[in-house]
Amino acid sequence: MVGDNLKSLYAKLPSGVKLVAVSKFHPVDRLMEAYDAGQRLFGENRPQELAAKVPQMPSDVEWHFIGHLQTNKLKLVLPYVSLVQSVDSLHLLEAIDKWGRDNDKIVDILLELHLGAEETKHGFSEEDILSIIEAGKGIPSETASPSGMCNVRIRGLMGMATNTEDEAVIEADFARIEALFNRIRAEYPELAETFTELSIGMSGDWPLAVKHGATMVRIGTDIFGPREY
Ligand SMILES: *Cc1c(COP(=O)(O)O)cnc(C)c1O
Repeated sequence: MVGDNLKSLYAKLPSGVKLVAVSKFHPVDRLMEAYDAGQRLFGENRPQELAAKVPQMPSDVEWHFIGHLQTNKLKLVLPYVSLVQSVDSLHLLEAIDKWGRDNDKIVDILLELHLGAEETKHGFSEEDILSIIEAGKGIPSETASPSGMCNVRIRGLMGMATNTEDEAVIEADFARIEALFNRIRAEYPELAETFTELSIGMSGDWPLAVKHGATMVRIGTDIFGPREY
């Protein structure tokens, strides 16, 4: 079942697009079904749940964190993940940088753009993102500006479209984040090798996200079925 779902998704996804299997709320035996079908990249959105699952899964699993992260939970998340997709405040960005400094690591992150119409969705405005990039934050370098953060590496942008059936609204959201992503890549050629990821698209809307340049899609329901909360 999980294996069949993955197979049909991979058949449809362009080969350059990474599939993050969003396994939140599902027990480890379901994750193992995906693992046995060849899936290695998983996404979780709650620190405790991630930290509990990591030791129960094979060590070649790669984890992304995709949920709202509080600064007092960093140690449950940062040792285990290859990417924090959901950095949504300067306070969090600074805390991750400090954790990286204290632990002698460079942490890969995406900046989350507040995209959907929902008030409750987390994320930066476009202006905030441009000013973070402009300030040289997240560009590890010997010559980083005084405000530069040397222990985070900004790898791209993440966003969630408005939760609606209206494809025109979803496409407008994706077009907006795609334009910001392309603008940053064009204006900062020095970021060409690091600022490469655009994480958009979930079960309901991933084909539209692919059309708008997604390099990563985050899919839960279409792989594991509905979640029981
Ligand atoms: C849960 C979640 C997803 C996956 O949603 P589905 O509709 O189940 O595919 C993707 N992104 C984020 C940030 C999520 O929290």
